[in-house]
Amino acid sequence: MDIKTKELVNRTCTSFGNDRYRLMDIVRTVQWENGCIPDDVIDDIAARVSVARVEVESVVSFYSFLSKKQKGKIVIRLCNDIIDKMNGAELIADTFSRELGIGFGETTPDGMITLEHTPCIGMCDQAPAALINEEVFTLLSSDKVREIVAGLKATEDPKKLVKRLGDGNNAHILVKSMVYNNIRRQDAVIFADYKANTGLEKAMAMSPVEVINEVKTARLRGRGGAGFPAGMKWEFTRAAEGKEKLVICNADEGEPGTFKDRVLLTELPDRIFEGMTIAGYAVGAETGLIYLRGEYAYLYNFLQSQLEERRSQGLLGKNILGKNFNFEIRIQLGAGAYICGEETALISSLEGLRGDPKNRPPFPVQHGYKGFPSIVNNVETFVSVLQVLEKGAGWFAELGSHGSSGTKLLSIAGDCQRPGVYEYPFGVTVDTILKESGAEDPIAVQIGGPSGRMISKEQFGGSICYDHLATGGALTIFGSHKNILEVVHAYMDFFVDESCGFCVPCRVGHVLLRDYVGKILKGNGEPDDLALLEKLGQAIKVASRCGFGQTSPNPVLTSLASFRHVYEGLIKKRTDKNVPSFDIRRALADAERIADRHSVLYSN
Ligand code: SF4
Repeated sequence: MDIKTKELVNRTCTSFGNDRYRLMDIVRTVQWENGCIPDDVIDDIAARVSVARVEVESVVSFYSFLSKKQKGKIVIRLCNDIIDKMNGAELIADTFSRELGIGFGETTPDGMITLEHTPCIGMCDQAPAALINEEVFTLLSSDKVREIVAGLKATEDPKKLVKRLGDGNNAHILVKSMVYNNIRRQDAVIFADYKANTGLEKAMAMSPVEVINEVKTARLRGRGGAGFPAGMKWEFTRAAEGKEKLVICNADEGEPGTFKDRVLLTELPDRIFEGMTIAGYAVGAETGLIYLRGEYAYLYNFLQSQLEERRSQGLLGKNILGKNFNFEIRIQLGAGAYICGEETALISSLEGLRGDPKNRPPFPVQHGYKGFPSIVNNVETFVSVLQVLEKGAGWFAELGSHGSSGTKLLSIAGDCQRPGVYEYPFGVTVDTILKESGAEDPIAVQIGGPSGRMISKEQFGGSICYDHLATGGALTIFGSHKNILEVVHAYMDFFVDESCGFCVPCRVGHVLLRDYVGKILKGNGEPDDLALLEKLGQAIKVASRCGFGQTSPNPVLTSLASFRHVYEGLIKKRTDKNVPSFDIRRALADAERIADRHSVLYSN
């Protein structure tokens, strides 16, 4: 290691107090400034924060934004999720490749630019899109790519290439991004008029237990997807034994098709922080942590400034609103791992570990961050709390539908004329949403992102609520020209990449599901394959350790239920005993690569 790198490691570790819990910050900083975290740097970091080398190495190898291998000063990450592909991402990929003279996963010979794919950057409403370092580039075309590459070669600074700014706070001096909010519909909770901090003032005029009861009476359920009652979560945390309590905000929406939290973080950060503060008061916490996905790092400085503003107004820190209540919020950036949206994986990441989910029980409300009782709610849940306090639990409980009170923010994208963020009262039908978003001849809607449910026309009369079509917020529309199996294959490919690999059914099962769907897609399916897909999907669901594996077979299982005729149409009825899917060349490819020679089968 050269002296400069040694000094960087020393400076970085010292600035984070040589604290092993701040390992994410340390490795992110070193990666950013050094372009990689090689073996000797891993050794040095491990020694400085007093952990075994393997702990640092396991973090570096886990997150897609970190690398032991040297990357370019500029890293282009082109989003390749299904919606970006529907909007021409493959053509964009070819143009980047051609203009740079390199393939994906490669760096230009001068070491300047690395080109990569990434599965979701939260921009499905303005796809195709790419992250270049931390800058977001949206609505890409081949011409724009040529301009960007020429600009990068000339300036070596992606910031200088952001010529037009988006709306609202996207144009704020600390954001300066070309992203648009695309807020298409506003309703009574999230985007309602609200006088800042009235919810907090009302909460602090009540006892903590009264605040929790108010949230329970409102029947507010977590907006992240699982829908656990927020008030109960708060009650459990308050009641749990612990020297400290924590409030954690999950700002790691990473499901392809989801982008609504991006808009809340951009336009309503003060409400998120206020909601977290109310939660802190209710459960007896003095610390709040917001886990911001690495893809939204372009909002980091802006969010920090909003926190600073609250501190200067006495709304964070000691003796908030003159009362004996102290609360602080810290932002933790992620580094590109979808699984960290799962609450226990998110806690692992906050603790400076790989984003591995933890066994449950114990649940985070009893044993969360650093073992302290912690509530984990998502961005939208904290914003919703304000209206519960301001307008009252009864008012809130009356909104929406039975069992699902309030409103839901939806990220709507795909084959529609008006992709964007829509706020609806719970109970709205898919039909209404399709009409208002300008859906173009829809044949399928994926409710709740890839791990959700794929529904067909017959189910479009169904309503969005926890008891029927539950969703964390993503609705992706597919028109009649789309091949459903291609969509399912893309989703399974995503899950193969994103499984943390801890348990075999999830690690191996998704590869099998993807490959069998691929086999059918190519017209090589056999009659028994459909039963096998169903059996395998169910087995993965019951045998997986965390919510990821318990839901990720859904694209296959729900599309089999709703679009069985599409699968059946591709199945061949065979009269011989041959196995049409077996490809000897493909089967031998890995062995040939490892042995670094061709099989004699080919040479003969
Ligand atoms: Fe990891 Fe998948 Fe197992 Fe969850 S189900 S712990 S993501 S391998």
